[in-house]
Amino acid sequence: MKEPLLVLKFGGTSVGSIERITEVAKRVALFKDSGHRVVVVVSAMSGETNRLMTLANQVDTVPNERELDVLLSAGEQVSMALLAMMLNKMGYPAVSLTGGQAGVITDNLHNDATIRHINTGYIEALLQQNQIVVVAGFQGVNENGDITTLGRGGSDTSAVVLAGALNADECQIFTDVDGIYSCDPRIVPTARKLDTIDFPHMEIMASKGAKVLHLPCVCYAWQNQVPLRVRSSFSSGEGTLVKGSDAEFGVYGIAVQKDLIFVEVDAREVDALISQCQLLSIPVWSVIEQTERYGVVVKESAYGRLALVFAEKIRNSDRVSSLSAIGTPKSSSEVQGIVERSCELLAGAGIDVFASFAGNNYTMLLLKPDVVEKAANIIHNKFIVSEEVLEQQQKLAVS
Ligand code: ASP
Ligand code: MG
Repeated sequence: MKEPLLVLKFGGTSVGSIERITEVAKRVALFKDSGHRVVVVVSAMSGETNRLMTLANQVDTVPNERELDVLLSAGEQVSMALLAMMLNKMGYPAVSLTGGQAGVITDNLHNDATIRHINTGYIEALLQQNQIVVVAGFQGVNENGDITTLGRGGSDTSAVVLAGALNADECQIFTDVDGIYSCDPRIVPTARKLDTIDFPHMEIMASKGAKVLHLPCVCYAWQNQVPLRVRSSFSSGEGTLVKGSDAEFGVYGIAVQKDLIFVEVDAREVDALISQCQLLSIPVWSVIEQTERYGVVVKESAYGRLALVFAEKIRNSDRVSSLSAIGTPKSSSEVQGIVERSCELLAGAGIDVFASFAGNNYTMLLLKPDVVEKAANIIHNKFIVSEEVLEQQQKLAVS
């Protein structure tokens, strides 16, 4: 019988220095020692993708897409080689593979490609030879063999799709937090770790800006029922298991998305603006049609491309952030109630809500970027951490 197969993914901070790569190698070795076949997916060392991006932007504000992929994919190529070297030095045979070498075939949408399929033959042959296979995350090749990348944070997706294609027993995402929290703990210190979360809620969290898992990764794991665990690469906890699709009522999490731009146009141009976004494959975060304010909200990273073709029609562009509360309400009136109470609470704290939206399993507010963290704390502590718990925590902190 074949040994169980694990796909382990390590993010940028986990491979951020040679010391950390040593720690990762030790962990991988432990899995190997305990009788697993192991495929490791790595991100670029922390800060590296941003560094490469900045270099590209010094050449051109909207760099040539194909060449940007060639550049950005280099980050992962560094960390995969260092990890494989380290494992070999420790006496564990390991081979590193670029996305293309690993058989990761994507569509042709440079900078935001989608994996079409994975030719797993080479990886399987290496596993058969008892090798640890280290694969560069975030990258693949299109059918011409040109390098493509999957969009920022795409290594999670690489790991999950590999796990699905190889029929792995589990996909574990190692990161710098010890699981999935009710909000990013760097923003909301009272955020709580969730032991489990179901796929539908995890998907909304990711789509509204929770950075812990890349959205396509969640969608893929959900569709293919790939058991997915998010855990810390620095401590030994069990992390958070993402599985299933049944959840209880209530608000589970708050997701914050910064770096958005409200693109304002005349009322009659809104439809044309939305079509333009579709043409350019730019996701529309929200559409605003209020008296005297019309336009769409898009990610700041896409704004340059939009402005290039729609420039004369844009009246104004303003940075905004969104704050979403995710959960399962008992009724649509409850959703509306959450929106109203949120707006009241924030108004009480002197925070203006620019626009609000109510979806099936979420509510979303648009705010000025400089107040969104404060607002996240207020909303989180109202809807997720009860007042009694907060009081207790404050007492403990004082004593
Ligand atoms: N290195 C890429 C990024 O920073 C991909 C990843 O880390 O998942 O977005
Ligand atoms: Mg990530």
